[in-house]
Amino acid sequence: MPDRPRTYTTEGIILRRRNLGEADSIFTVYSDREGKFDGVARGVRKARSHMRGHLEPLTRSKLMLARGRSLDVFTQAETVTGYRAIREDLERGAAAMYCAELLDRFTAERVEHPGLYGLMLDLLDALEADAPVAVVRYFEMELLGLVGYELQIDACAICGGRLPEADTLLSPSTGGFVCADCRATSGGGRVVSVRAVKVMRFARAADMARFAALRLDEGLGRELQHALADVIRYLLDREPLSGRFVDQVARLERAPIRSQTGDDVE
Ligand SMILES: [Zn+2]
Repeated sequence: MPDRPRTYTTEGIILRRRNLGEADSIFTVYSDREGKFDGVARGVRKARSHMRGHLEPLTRSKLMLARGRSLDVFTQAETVTGYRAIREDLERGAAAMYCAELLDRFTAERVEHPGLYGLMLDLLDALEADAPVAVVRYFEMELLGLVGYELQIDACAICGGRLPEADTLLSPSTGGFVCADCRATSGGGRVVSVRAVKVMRFARAADMARFAALRLDEGLGRELQHALADVIRYLLDREPLSGRFVDQVARLERAPIRSQTGDDVE
């Protein structure tokens, strides 16, 4: 086997940043070729760092790295898309950060999941183009499928039997919808409306653009959000932090007298 080259280039989306020492930061990247990885950027918190603006969370960047003993080191970074509209909008920014966190939590380092990078780009491009934040539901369902937890929504997840066009139990522990006969052995769950069932089946068949064009009223959007959050919480064993933040933002925006603060989304 030839030695691996000491430097490599890849394109990726910055998922998160944490500080290291006085001036360095570690960035978690989801990339097209390497999957998820951490890299360190030396001196990136100094004012004169030329890489800083290209390594902000939610930026799509071309990256060059040098292999290190524990962590690889960023040597160059150049923004491909900065997603400015997302960054400047509290609700869309929170939604995108939540998706970045899901991507991080559901993947292991340097494991390739074909389609996942494209899914994250589709999500960011849709939110940047002012798609409704309900596209996050499409992202959640696709993500689960791509990392091996595809929801069983066409037939009963326990007996495989046909499901009637009706309100149906979604059972996180069995990984999908459960028919009336199997409810007692399902381990519990949430009954979702037949409208929500139809939207989930539509999502399975559609691409993100078609899903973004759906008009979901607020009640249906919220029902889908809670139903998928049950599944995600079960799978991750604890609620993702930014999920709570998305809820807080939604509450903030419904409150009539509060104005948008323009606070940093991170
Ligand atoms: Zn059944």
